[in-house]
Formats: sequence, C-alpha cells, structure tokens
Amino acid sequence: MDLALETISSAQIAKNLQKKKNEKSYRIRKQLQSAQGPVVSVNGEKKVAFCSNDYLALANHPKIIQAFVDAAKKYGVGSGASHLVCGHHREHQLLEVALARFLSRDRALLFSNGYMANMGAINALADADTDIFCDQLNHASLMDGAFISRGSHRRFHHNDMAHLSELLSASTAKKKFIAVDSVFSMDGDIAPIKQLTELAKVHNATLMVDDAHGFGCLGRRGKGAIEYFDCDQNELPILMATLGKACGSTGAFIAGNENLIETLIQSSRTYVYTTALPPANAAASRMALEVIQQEAWRRDNLNKIIHHFSVTAEKLKLPTMSSVTAIQPILLGDNKRVMDVAERLYVKGFWVGAIRPPTVPEGRGRLRISLNAEHSTQQVDDLLFELKNCLDEKI
Ligand SMILES: *Cc1c(COP(=O)(O)O)cnc(C)c1O
Repeated sequence: MDLALETISSAQIAKNLQKKKNEKSYRIRKQLQSAQGPVVSVNGEKKVAFCSNDYLALANHPKIIQAFVDAAKKYGVGSGASHLVCGHHREHQLLEVALARFLSRDRALLFSNGYMANMGAINALADADTDIFCDQLNHASLMDGAFISRGSHRRFHHNDMAHLSELLSASTAKKKFIAVDSVFSMDGDIAPIKQLTELAKVHNATLMVDDAHGFGCLGRRGKGAIEYFDCDQNELPILMATLGKACGSTGAFIAGNENLIETLIQSSRTYVYTTALPPANAAASRMALEVIQQEAWRRDNLNKIIHHFSVTAEKLKLPTMSSVTAIQPILLGDNKRVMDVAERLYVKGFWVGAIRPPTVPEGRGRLRISLNAEHSTQQVDDLLFELKNCLDEKI
C-alpha cells in the first residue's frame, strides 16, 4: 500500500486520536444553549462565560438582532450565489461603504470570514517573487495564506523588530510582504505597528495587519489598531478585520485602496469561489458598526473591566502575561494542569478557554480569559478568587 493510504487507514486514525487523548490534547465541544453573554447556558447549566470573543457584548444586542430579522424578512436567509455571479447584494455594498468610511480607507471588501480573508488576500498578492514575513505567533489563517501562496514564508520572533529587520535586510526577493496580528489572539499583547510601518517603508515592503481582536475595541472610537496607532492608508495599506468578534456578527473584510480591492475581486480565490454572506448578516454588521460608534460606554466598560482584572490578578500574584487587551492569558504550562484547572473552574461556575498545543507552543498551555463590556467586577473577583484557590492547592 502506498504511504498516503497507509497513513489515512482507519487503524492509523484511531491511533492518532488515542495519542491525542494520552497527551491531554484531545478537544471536546461543549454545547451552548443560550445566546452569548456574560452568563450562558451550557450543557444544561448556567456558567459565567469568560471565553467568547464577543468583547462588546453585541452578539445578543436588540438593535442588531432587529436589523438581522428585518433584512431576513425582506431578503431571505441565503445570498444564493457568489458575489461575481449574482449574490452581491445592496446590503453587502452598503456595509462595504460604511466600513470604508469609518476607517478612512478608499474601499472595503467583504469576505465570508476572517480565515478566508487572510488566506485569499495573501494568496492573491504574494507571487513567486515575494518573501512573506510573519510573526511566529500570527493567527493560523495568516500562516496558511503564506503556505498556500507561491511566496516564501519567513517567520520572525514574536514582536522582535530587530529580528524582522535582519530578515528583511537579508532578503533578495523582488517583493516583500509583512503580515502580523495587531492583537495576538492567545497572548493578548499588541504588535508594535508604528515600528512595523517604518520598517516596511525602509525596506519597501507591503504591510498587512489582521485587526480581528482590535477592531471595535481599540481606539477611542473603536476603529481598532489604525486609531490606536494613528495609521493612514499609506502607512498601513492592507487592513483586515473580522465581524464575528467585537461586532458580534459574522464575516470579515479587507480595507485599502482601489487597486488592492479590485485585485482581490478579480483574483482572490476565497472571494471568487464561495457563496456570499447572507444579506441579513451584512445588515446586522452594519447596525453593529452604528452601535460601536453610538455606545462608546461599551468600550469604556470593557477598559474598566480589563483594568480591574489586571490590578486584582497582580495583587493575587497570578501568572498573567503582559496584556492590556480583553484577552488575558494565565500561563500554566503542561496540558494536564491546564485541563485540571479549567475543569475545576467550570465546576465552580466559570467557563474559560483551555488553550493547548498546537494553538500555542509546547509547554506554554494556558487559560485564555476573555473579558467583555457586560462583565461585572464581582464576576471577575469571583473568578480570580477561585483561580487563586486552584493554584494554592497546586492543582
Ligand atoms: C478569529 C481570527 C481570525 C479568523 O476570523 P474568522 O472570521 O473567525 O474566520 C483571523 N485572525 C485572527 C487574529 C483571529 O483571531
């Protein structure tokens, strides 16, 4: 039998699964039975949830739900086709225009989700003459975009501008492309975007930033990384953000100049060869964009809760990482410990993310606590108290 068939034999598959179980890296889905929010129903019980990316608590917002329902009644539930065939709806167009205006970009282009936006953009833009430079902690979708493209993939040490500069200087490629997360999804720290724009300029490289966790949260008006770092379209020519996190909806977009957007429409495979988002999703996202601007108190609350979390965790000497965002990791190390602590917290009424390799490097397992605008200080205090107990008992 040839090797490919050998490795996908059912015996081999079963063995691989058993190996995952032995290494405590086997993943099991819990079943959510309510909307997202600070308290959710899961597997028949109520838990305080510290694990969603619904940072502004918009996934269950009445105005956004209404926009979704109204559009679904008018336009149905499916888009019927890809954008270039006959699925491009007025609701998509209105959202693209609203996003571009909000972010002071020429245009924005909707994708079905962030994974496809990243894969599709890098693959369409990087050719065989391109070196692609990625932070080693970039989201999987940026890495996969680099892998499937014809460009060469180079990784630099996390947020290490000296290393990136060295790699850029050593590169003889005709074109250089830098892709980074703005807020790293498992660490919560922020990339030095200003320095990246400067390096890009010096080395004549194109910069792409994935603002999945910044958009809606960072900046006084919620414009994300570009507001936090005050970057215009020339400095930061390729901006990607998702609509399924702080916007509480689903989808993603790339924003930039006319030629960038037209290039993606013509040749991004994950744009061309897939069904457009339902128009109702676009309507919901457009309302979310309104709410992000109108209800600035949500960002203020989120920032207060983040501050409260950091101060309290520090007092309790918990192993936090240096994050000023809604993503607050608690570094625990080995897989078994991560699972045991997460399980204990769950029994006590708290649902937190248990993050293990390959999502993070070996030995860097952690809890990923994510905060949102509707968490109370009491909920945070209760969580941290239980967490402290777990660590004191050497769980
Ligand atoms: C979630 C996420 C994505 C993928 O976005 P989806 O819309 O969920 O597919 C891409 N990049 C980063 C950094 C993310 O956190």
